[in-house]
Amino acid sequence: MSEALCRICESGDLERILHYPRAPRNIERLIDPEQFDRDRPVELSVYRCRACSHVQLAEYLQDEFYDEYLMSHSHAEKMQKFQASQAKAFVEYFGLRGGRVFEAGCGDGQFSLIIKGLGCEVLANEPSAKARRACEKKGLSTVDGFVKAGAFPHLHGTFEAFATRQVLEHVPEPNDFLRELRALLKPGGAGLIEVPALEMAVENERFFDFFPDHLSYFSQNALVHLCSRNSLEVVRLQRAMDGEYNEVWVRRTEHPGLEGIEQAAKSISGSFREFLDREKQAGRKVAIWGSGAKGVLTLAMVDTASVAYLVDLDRVKHGRYTPVSHLEVCPTERLLAEPVDTVIITALAYKNEIIRDLKTKFAFQGKIAFLSGGNIEEAGP
Ligand SMILES: [Zn+2]
Repeated sequence: MSEALCRICESGDLERILHYPRAPRNIERLIDPEQFDRDRPVELSVYRCRACSHVQLAEYLQDEFYDEYLMSHSHAEKMQKFQASQAKAFVEYFGLRGGRVFEAGCGDGQFSLIIKGLGCEVLANEPSAKARRACEKKGLSTVDGFVKAGAFPHLHGTFEAFATRQVLEHVPEPNDFLRELRALLKPGGAGLIEVPALEMAVENERFFDFFPDHLSYFSQNALVHLCSRNSLEVVRLQRAMDGEYNEVWVRRTEHPGLEGIEQAAKSISGSFREFLDREKQAGRKVAIWGSGAKGVLTLAMVDTASVAYLVDLDRVKHGRYTPVSHLEVCPTERLLAEPVDTVIITALAYKNEIIRDLKTKFAFQGKIAFLSGGNIEEAGP
């Protein structure tokens, strides 16, 4: 399977860790005698990604969707109790009462119904028409379709939370799936993801936990990795249902806006020029303190023609020049030998120490300014 990629990190470096020569093609669908002659075993190979350790099948054997899926899980009393307490904890923790919740792959709608009963407005998603009908009979609003990037653009940003239980392990492209679920959330929205725990299979040598229906086998690490790749911050991670499941609660994290940085980069040369012009008009000489990374980059972006000189404490730098701006780095003693009226500090990490040194060691009484975003700001007295 050299062409196969890790479903999480997309590395092609997959190592086969299990091989069953004889497995049923689909373990959730039982068959009738007239189907025997078409029913053939398949080979099952399980791989581990050497890059991120995710465990998965490489191929995608499933040819039919979930219309005939036997949805018997919700009938067991233990399962009903588990779902009820899980839903309640989730709704309470995130304060979802009165909010909108999207359940991806809701099956027979049992969990959606519980969430609805807790006071949420639920949209139950399910690709199987049969299952959707079962949900609608329970009074649930449903939506057709597989969750993948761009599947529900009209619903983006409209939900307080999503839930998806025992679905992600069937999904061919988990990143794509989570990207869309994240997009459905309002800023700060929450999510609940439940999958079978790989740890359970490993701890108990459960060879029978691997079958063609499950394309991914999530460890807790893999789940966290997957969520973080898709800007979902994990707020709770636990083994649930006697350790059978990995359950993770997430919150949508926002991409920090970088527009302000772009704006600051654009405005620094103008601000610097205006500052220097004002000083020049007032007959004031200006020196720069700091030839570290921040200073060197800034000086490369501005016009330094009217800067008197540049000082830095670091002896190693003395006598050398800043790239692009070509200012010689002088010892700080130059401030005594050739006094200036204004000092602009670019070594921001040491700003307070430099201000203190200027006032004490150098008895400097002039104007002290420093780099602040796209501006030059004057230090207070
Ligand atoms: Zn990987």
